[in-house]
Amino acid sequence: MADSLEVIPLGGLGEFGMNSTALRCNGDIIVLDAGVAFPTHELGVDFVVPDLTFLKENQDQVRGILLTHGHEDHAGGIPYVIPELPVPVYASRLTQALVSEKLKEHELLERTDLRLLEARDTLRFGAFEIEPLHMTHSFPDAFCFAITTPAGTIIWTGDFKFDQTPIDRRLSDVARLSEYGEDGVLALFSDSTNSESRGLCPSEFSVYEPLRNLFLRARRKIVVSCFASSLSRVQVILDLARERGRKVAPIGRSMVSYLRAAFEIGYLQMPSDLLISLNDVRSLPPEEVVILATGSQGEPMSALSRLAINEVKNVEIEEGDMVILSARIIPGNEKLISNMINHFYRRGAQVYDSDHSQVHVSGHGYREDLKLMMNLVKPRFFVPIHGEFKQLKTHYLLALDQGIPAENARIIENGDILELTPTSLQVTGKLTASRRFIEEGVAEEVHDLVLRDRRYLSEDGLLVIVLRMDRLEGDLIGEPELIPRGFVDESAESLMESIKEEVVRVVRETNPEEKRDEELFKEIIRKEIKRFLRKQTGKRPVILPVTLVI
Ligand SMILES: [Zn+2]
Ligand SMILES: [Zn+2]
Repeated sequence: MADSLEVIPLGGLGEFGMNSTALRCNGDIIVLDAGVAFPTHELGVDFVVPDLTFLKENQDQVRGILLTHGHEDHAGGIPYVIPELPVPVYASRLTQALVSEKLKEHELLERTDLRLLEARDTLRFGAFEIEPLHMTHSFPDAFCFAITTPAGTIIWTGDFKFDQTPIDRRLSDVARLSEYGEDGVLALFSDSTNSESRGLCPSEFSVYEPLRNLFLRARRKIVVSCFASSLSRVQVILDLARERGRKVAPIGRSMVSYLRAAFEIGYLQMPSDLLISLNDVRSLPPEEVVILATGSQGEPMSALSRLAINEVKNVEIEEGDMVILSARIIPGNEKLISNMINHFYRRGAQVYDSDHSQVHVSGHGYREDLKLMMNLVKPRFFVPIHGEFKQLKTHYLLALDQGIPAENARIIENGDILELTPTSLQVTGKLTASRRFIEEGVAEEVHDLVLRDRRYLSEDGLLVIVLRMDRLEGDLIGEPELIPRGFVDESAESLMESIKEEVVRVVRETNPEEKRDEELFKEIIRKEIKRFLRKQTGKRPVILPVTLVI
């Protein structure tokens, strides 16, 4: 239909992470965000990114990808999207810097057309005119997009809260939002993450005091964990470390590279000698050290988890150390996190998280923030975005409370084709939106987990490794038993022997604490043997370690 705008969410609705949405108007398509999700249950898969079929089928219409900000759930998918869909990527300076780090890792930086977007710029693509507006969030350089089309203007909030004292003192662009509101906004698409939380979201500034109190109390090393891309929080931690005369050792690949990238372009303020490397930690007294680590979700191979079991060279967790988890718990990760916390306690460290004091605040607006957004923008139509279904629904009901007629508000889900005209809003169709599974180190993507496992099974077979242990943290009894199905040939006997030797080596080198954590132990065996077999045979059988405590 002429003068209609189609909004097609490819991910991020009804789930956590993987935000990406296509907008189409008069034969032009723009894509808002390209995020990843981190699955916790799909064994052997590192990331999930949205299915690109729709965009690839219409590639000649795609004008570019616009990123609201640099968090993983919005920008983390770029390295997996660009090889398939080589279109320009528009982003704020900081987002661009972080995305560049990711692209470098994937050797894609040269091939990617990255373009700088500044707040209040105007971008035109055919039927679209886009103005990015600065918004406060736990990321210092985040945008909301005001997108004007022949159908009308829509406001796409991105992740936001109305923070009156952001760490960098740059406020949300309330003035422009209300101007758009005065001129008439067709539809508001707004962040639903905290639609269930009453009141106003506390300012990022409010974490200073609780964190400062902990820093004052600490007598030995402090380990702080937060998301590497939450650079406002990183700034707070750097400030407090400097105040207390401590040096900061970052650990975790993204922490190290994001810190450097943000510092280079002036988005992190610190004396140039504040940062030290992990190698320098031993040469300083413990009361002069802060370790800033990724891995707040307890991911088994992350920096923080490795610290928890003393698997990091040059750094040992000792009696009296303090560990601060300055991040939210993503639902589903509770068990992993509590395992990790137990390891820290076992070493004599004290662990503080947001249950204990306010060492974390959300970057997403609460109900009063969300109402303020609606009241500034005064949209005709309302669509909740960014959240699980219950958050979308709660946000939808909040909009009705604010006086938006029920027929003017709509909950949409991934793959829905929402058509907007100056007078109507309706779902006119549905794409078969699915997801892509990415396994790091494997060029080819995994389309479907069941299919993948079946393929590995049919091509490369199955290997069950039975480990008899005297107790979980103890020694092997006898040698490991191997039960191969479908991947052995004539060279099998010597291969089996070398696998056994490898298993024995891995068990010997795994420390008792890791062994006691049965899931972690099996994951270590699985990963090591997978790597070994790939090197030795080029095959990827499905590996199932089984531990029997006798
Ligand atoms: Zn965010
Ligand atoms: Zn987000």
